[in-house]
Amino acid sequence: MPTNTAITPPTATLTNTPDLPQLPELGLSELQALMTSWQQPKFRAKQVLDWRNKGVLNPDEMKNISAELREKLKTELLCEPLSLIRRECSSDGTRKYVFGLKRGRFTGKMVESVFIPEEKRGTVCISSQVGCVLDCPFCYTGTQGFEANLTPGEIVAQILAIKADLHREPVSGELHSDITHIVYMGMGEPLANEESVHRSIGLLMHEEGLNISRRRITLSTSGLVPQITRLGEVQPVNLAISLHAATDSLRDELVPINRKYPLAELRQCLNVYPLAKQRHITLEYVLLDGVNDRPEDLQALSRFVNPERERVNLIQFNPYPGSPYRGTPKDNMREFAQSLISKGIRATVRRSRGQDIMAACGQLKADTSRTEK
Ligand code: SF4
Repeated sequence: MPTNTAITPPTATLTNTPDLPQLPELGLSELQALMTSWQQPKFRAKQVLDWRNKGVLNPDEMKNISAELREKLKTELLCEPLSLIRRECSSDGTRKYVFGLKRGRFTGKMVESVFIPEEKRGTVCISSQVGCVLDCPFCYTGTQGFEANLTPGEIVAQILAIKADLHREPVSGELHSDITHIVYMGMGEPLANEESVHRSIGLLMHEEGLNISRRRITLSTSGLVPQITRLGEVQPVNLAISLHAATDSLRDELVPINRKYPLAELRQCLNVYPLAKQRHITLEYVLLDGVNDRPEDLQALSRFVNPERERVNLIQFNPYPGSPYRGTPKDNMREFAQSLISKGIRATVRRSRGQDIMAACGQLKADTSRTEK
């Protein structure tokens, strides 16, 4: 198993840089324009892009470009917008990363990303904000408040840094060690950072970028209705909804954005969200003991789901210190899933990964902040 990496405190390793353009968020034409303005041949742009797409962001490691261009890249761009602060490797192959920002007053703020290897795929779960603008009471990230929106470059840089890490130290055994799927399910509400998230999706999908198919990108949202509609119009990636309750009274409590966009509005918007062939919308439902796993909750959920277009993903609750909730016992989770299936609804219980490395979203980042204070 690879070793965990704990690096020195961010204040010691991160330099406060002005807001320079970030290499991970530049497209080919933007890089070509830069090369022209630096009196460099245009083909250099493609060379730099090829390195970047492999996860090589440090100009000193770009072997086929001139020393002069390396210096230019270092002074004119923020080539590596993130610093790796900490890495934890689970016995099941899952890797969790804490990255520090290097941008002006946000320098030293931390985000988490996760790589989840399976036999036939490797998924990266990325963050879109430091903390979160919303405050779902069962979510550890929600308890930490909102600190910053990530730039498109910082969103894409999480994937590039993980790509480089996997290249240096592949996951052992039969598990996939390449990134095949991306999920926007880490820290933050992606649709509350809409512009950066749309742009980052464009960069991931672009054939001169990471060239990842739309079908392999999933965005999870708590249910910002106008933004979901716009996503469907502009970047119709796979959609997951943090549902967690199927009555307004309970969802108002568990997912407070429901007070602004209640279930009836969410329902209408989901009914018309564009779906790729053989794709479904995923309704995520964290099962909380005695809170949303009662017979009446099951009834409400089965009434809400549109089985033609949606499936339910039941998630085990990851307790965190001070959490007021307990997870539903595993047997009851299976029963809940079976009851949905018996009503003709596709339901799965999500296997919890990385249990030994602080699996609750935001937990590793919080632990890192505490250690380094
Ligand atoms: S569940 Fe998602 S939207 Fe709610 S507080 Fe946590 S990160 Fe934010």
